Amino acid sequence: YHSSWPQDGQSMPPGGGNSTQEDGQLLRAALVALVRNSELEGLRSTIRQVDDRFNRRYGYPYIFLNDEEFTDEFIDQVRAVTKAPVYFGKLPKEHWGLSPYVTEEKVKAALEYNKDRYLYGGSFSYRMMCRFQSGFIHKHPLLQNLDYYWRIEPDVNYFCDIPYDPFKYMRDNNLMYGFTITPMEARKTVETLWNTTRHWMLENPHLLPEKSFMHWVVNEKAKYTLCHFWSNFEIVNLSLYRSEAYESYFNHLDRAGGFFYERWGDAPVHSFAAALLLRKEQIHWFEDIGYHHPGYAHCPNKPEMKSRCVCSPGSDFMYRSMCSRRFSEVGDIYKDQMLELAHM
Ligand code: GDP
Ligand code: MN
Repeated sequence: YHSSWPQDGQSMPPGGGNSTQEDGQLLRAALVALVRNSELEGLRSTIRQVDDRFNRRYGYPYIFLNDEEFTDEFIDQVRAVTKAPVYFGKLPKEHWGLSPYVTEEKVKAALEYNKDRYLYGGSFSYRMMCRFQSGFIHKHPLLQNLDYYWRIEPDVNYFCDIPYDPFKYMRDNNLMYGFTITPMEARKTVETLWNTTRHWMLENPHLLPEKSFMHWVVNEKAKYTLCHFWSNFEIVNLSLYRSEAYESYFNHLDRAGGFFYERWGDAPVHSFAAALLLRKEQIHWFEDIGYHHPGYAHCPNKPEMKSRCVCSPGSDFMYRSMCSRRFSEVGDIYKDQMLELAHM
């Protein structure tokens, strides 16, 4: 196993090197997670599975980010579970905290009001996490040289061998966004997200593409379908999040305060952006990547896929998911139709 990625202990961020692997060169890509010291065992479990199913044969770097310092034990125990290069980074202060557009008093009142209304309703750190993953993760210095990232999390399961490089699959097929599971969001956490989004659209028509997959998230009657890609798994061409349109969209959302006053998740935010800014052909369901995150699982049932997986078909969510059905049925709409929906 040879790699010209910067070795452990060096601070140079990944992305500049070329590694010779059995499958040729690596792309400028990495597996990335925001994670806490307390999640060490769950993270090691995830890394072990990602390595066994895929990355052992490629050696893409792992990047772990934290709002606090990682402990020596965390770093040692993570490094011990994989041969791939691992980078540990701390978040810049400006990326983790109260948005400048909200007031502490009103946030406190919102947490109190929402604490029993939905999961994490009273959690301040959860909201900072969602805001970070929405607006800042792609700006972290360790990600600056990457073209693609694959988000992972502690305590998830990868059910299937992945005998190819999903990053290269993304590149070769001009894909911008890849997902495995599409649930519906809890409405109470995103009460004003669509309304805020539609104002951004109407104020910034010049940032909208000629056509997009918007209909997946907003139906014929201009109602939010609550469909989203579950972003605890996402493989993304980072130029999506680095685009002028995304930056403008995120800032608009941040100014509206919903990351704190409500509990807007990075999943619905990323999904709105992908649906509004991309065409359907740029978005890919990795149906062959069986996956579980507490709450939902996807267990592939196609004959050519399931022989590579170990999971129980009964655990699958995707073959009965409303948003999955909608994903296959809905097509792109043109900009004038998008603006009409925003206007309704
Ligand atoms: P859920 O998937 O929505 O239930 O939320 P999680 O608790 O799994 O959090 C999502 C991701 O953010 C996971 O990778 C967590 O490890 C990470 N995360 C959540 N809160 C914090 C936090 O306060 N600090 C750090 N460093 N990571 C966090
Ligand atoms: Mn999670």
